[in-house]
Amino acid sequence: LAIPDFEYFRQEICDIFETTKRFTSGNVASYIPQLARVNPEQYAAAICTIDGQRFAVGDTKAEFCVQSCSKPISYALALEERGHDKVHQHVGREPSGVRFNELTLNHEHKPHNPMINSGAIMTCSLIQPEMDMADRFTYVVEKWTAMAGGGRIGFSNATYLSERQTADRNFALAYFMRENHGFPVEVEKNLTEILEFYFQCCSLECNVQTLSVIAGTLANGGICPITNEQVLRPETVRAVLSMMYSCGTYDFSGEFAFKIGIPAKSGVAGALMVVVPNIMGLCIWSPRLDKLGNSVRGIEFCKELCNRFNFHNFDES
Ligand code: GLU
Repeated sequence: LAIPDFEYFRQEICDIFETTKRFTSGNVASYIPQLARVNPEQYAAAICTIDGQRFAVGDTKAEFCVQSCSKPISYALALEERGHDKVHQHVGREPSGVRFNELTLNHEHKPHNPMINSGAIMTCSLIQPEMDMADRFTYVVEKWTAMAGGGRIGFSNATYLSERQTADRNFALAYFMRENHGFPVEVEKNLTEILEFYFQCCSLECNVQTLSVIAGTLANGGICPITNEQVLRPETVRAVLSMMYSCGTYDFSGEFAFKIGIPAKSGVAGALMVVVPNIMGLCIWSPRLDKLGNSVRGIEFCKELCNRFNFHNFDES
């Protein structure tokens, strides 16, 4: 078993959850009304081990918008379809050192990495571009569902519409990349479609339990722990986890890698998807964000988890 004494572990998780509840600083995202209206008190955590042991605590049924937690998945789907070399002709692998939506490209005129907006818009442009919009959306939802072992993947149309309406920066990033001939030539005339597809991926919804299974699939070399379906190739997962490790938590990524030492991706709705490779996936969700855009309780939960267990990549085992 990945976690031999699951009952003990479960009690520890509950204890970490209770002790981190007291962190009530930060603010919910307010750039769109759908996020501004979310009840900030909500808090939930879920785990799914690579052998399918599961546990969840708190507001486990509440659905939230995945937002930037979609970025590793879009990157994974692009890699599966196009292969590493093709994908990385269009997007780099370095932390950007600037904010996630900064209007900037690397010295090769590519987005710095797939975990920031420009990079995720780019990887979205590489996913099934020949499909029409409806089929492409269905394709992505089916992949998410397979990673989630059949867990429900919802969609917030209101969030999607708001994202699309409040998207000057993302449009600017897309035009900037097109000006620099960043997109594959066959897709670059469909900039609006690419962006709409990116907003749709950000507007997918699920609960912590579902996202913990997806994280569990990433922890398990691409095999979903509850269906045993190989959804992603191991080499895809390796690339995705590397990017999450170096670039997954905005401008806290270096600190996160240093202090907590495991791959994670956060999103502006307060979700934090965390992978302990070869052991388990976790999802922590609480909407209040710190100044860098990460869930306050999510980060505190991870710190406490790695204080109590030797999950840090460079812990002595
Ligand atoms: N939809 C958001 C954007 O593109 C994603 C923000 C996030 O979760 O970082 O600005």
